[in-house]
Amino acid sequence: MSLEKTEAIILKSFNWSESSRTVVFFTDRAGKLPLVDKGGRSFKSRRGRLIPFARMEITYYSSQKETRGYISEVALLEAFSLEKSGSLGRLAFASAACELLYLLLPDEEPQGNLYDYFRAFLGYVETADKHRLSALFLAFFLRVLSHLGYSPSLAYCALCRRDFDTVGEKADRVLFSPARGGIICSACQKAGDYYIPFSSASYKLLLALQTASLKEAVTLPIGYQETVLLLEALAKFVSYQTGITSDLKSLKFLEKLKNSELLR
Ligand SMILES: [Zn+2]
Repeated sequence: MSLEKTEAIILKSFNWSESSRTVVFFTDRAGKLPLVDKGGRSFKSRRGRLIPFARMEITYYSSQKETRGYISEVALLEAFSLEKSGSLGRLAFASAACELLYLLLPDEEPQGNLYDYFRAFLGYVETADKHRLSALFLAFFLRVLSHLGYSPSLAYCALCRRDFDTVGEKADRVLFSPARGGIICSACQKAGDYYIPFSSASYKLLLALQTASLKEAVTLPIGYQETVLLLEALAKFVSYQTGITSDLKSLKFLEKLKNSELLR
């Protein structure tokens, strides 16, 4: 066993006894890293506390064997407060981001740039106007997909690869195919295939968000209905393209906010 140190943010944890659990971190050095937390849930533990939505420096014993390494020390570096106006929405989007990374990241492959991006994203979730959280999360979602090689084809047809704005499309209704991996031009559309229709405005917004920085994303206004439609389209795209069939539970939670004022 060797002692290692890394910066980390919690993605998910699984309790397996009253005092112990497995915690899955996103780390800056080792990517997604599951570690055993022995006795860390006990009140008697003298080790630093593990806090959700926070940057921590963790010291851990890594194991060369098949068994998982375990946590030794924890030091808090920065906690992201989600308490500002619209806190339930902030919590929902931050949780959805953790869940997305948990589902998509491969174990123990360093993802330095993506870690920095995730850290910056949480900073924006803490400070952004609550009406801009949807655009922020959609930009994050698209960037994670792009980073991991799953970008949906939005600027060009997913089948014939022709630029969408040069094939004479009347873009008042754009059809998106989660199974084919993106938008489909009218020449390639087949009767009976499953498509999600986007309005011209929704399509343009998604296209802009695909290349937007977080700073640019928080300037883009997006309505609630539009958010739900685009999130559903991306969630379906993920399950078709990656084979992950588990529902994004946090996205389901966002639907429950539909009738609330939180995201308006
Ligand atoms: Zn086509």
